[in-house]
Amino acid sequence: MERVEYCEECQVGIPHFTTATYFTWIEDELITVPDFPCWVCDVCGRREWDAESLMNLNLILSPNAGKPQPRKRTITGESKSTRAKTRRSAVR
Ligand SMILES: [Zn+2]
Repeated sequence: MERVEYCEECQVGIPHFTTATYFTWIEDELITVPDFPCWVCDVCGRREWDAESLMNLNLILSPNAGKPQPRKRTITGESKSTRAKTRRSAVR
């Protein structure tokens, strides 16, 4: 997967691949994912969650992929990235 070399925020820093604890809410439940892949800028510290991993996580957190059930839930991630949209509708 190709990535921009420089940080989108400060334009001078280089995002480095690392891991951090990812937080997301599923309605009133706080979900934490330790060691979640992300890119952190070495200058401004901007954190961007790995889009591919987010997609995988959303698949895991969205059981509606296989089994339709009446209860609706929404997962909202913290990523400010325009690429990595974490907003998703899920049905439990
Ligand atoms: Zn930066």
